[in-house]
Amino acid sequence: MSSPSEIDHLIDLMAKLPGLGPRSARRAVLHLIRKRALLLTPLADVMQEVAATARECLNCGNVGTTDICDICDSEKRATGELCVVEDVADLWAMERSGVFKGRYHVLGGTLSALDSIGPEDLRIPRLADRIDTEGITEVILALNATVDGQTTAHYIADQLQGRVRLTSLAQGVPIGGELDYLDDGTISAALRARKDI
Ligand SMILES: [Zn+2]
Repeated sequence: MSSPSEIDHLIDLMAKLPGLGPRSARRAVLHLIRKRALLLTPLADVMQEVAATARECLNCGNVGTTDICDICDSEKRATGELCVVEDVADLWAMERSGVFKGRYHVLGGTLSALDSIGPEDLRIPRLADRIDTEGITEVILALNATVDGQTTAHYIADQLQGRVRLTSLAQGVPIGGELDYLDDGTISAALRARKDI
């Protein structure tokens, strides 16, 4: 039997999750305990499994359970199109919309003078390698419409100019908005109406 302190510990950990505070965490934990067989036990099992197997794809930075993710591994996704995103959440948002058939490259953040984040701190050097090894013909910059996102897009565009077709998502991505918060229709429209840089 759990002592109250273990339940408190669980609540403290849950409260650290994005979108949850102490109050939501308490409600969630109480719900889990009441639905022990249906939710708590399967959740504990799958969390243990994910903790043991989750890793970043060595090629693109996607998160999965193998060294090379399903998208990089699939020949069907070798369309010559490469979509550059800041974060795995953005990649997953693009995948949810189902409109993009190529591969991705997750930078793992944006350039930031303020936080001293340079190209070497991101997955930018690897991007240039992939252009050659995977026969990439178009790089779609799907970076967030933040100042840092756009600075990063310009930097990458400068680096790759003349080597591939460079495009960016059409207007429709709200300023400061993250791809993950857009609905699937907006993402599809922004991708279809992408424009050359
Ligand atoms: Zn991958």
